Amino acid sequence: MMFLLEIFTFLAIIYLLILIFLRIKLFKSRLISKVCINCCPKCYHPLERMKSNLYNKLTNFLTIDIFQFMKFYCNKCKWNGLLAKYSKKITV
Ligand SMILES: [Zn+2]
Repeated sequence: MMFLLEIFTFLAIIYLLILIFLRIKLFKSRLISKVCINCCPKCYHPLERMKSNLYNKLTNFLTIDIFQFMKFYCNKCKWNGLLAKYSKKITV
């Protein structure tokens, strides 16, 4: 039994380290440009907020809310997906 617990702890630590690494790397960050504060990752058109669904909530739960993902979509190119709460500046 002790052995299983150690494996579980080890995996949990690895998982946490991956999450922290992705957070530092600004994984799925929103994009800020001169013309918009939340630009589409594909065409840089301003994004629209979508109502969060179960997938959104589950993703935040499984990532211990470290990214605080929200769902967005693009009117122009129809991109949609989750982006984290933090932003990254871009020059387009
Ligand atoms: Zn777009």
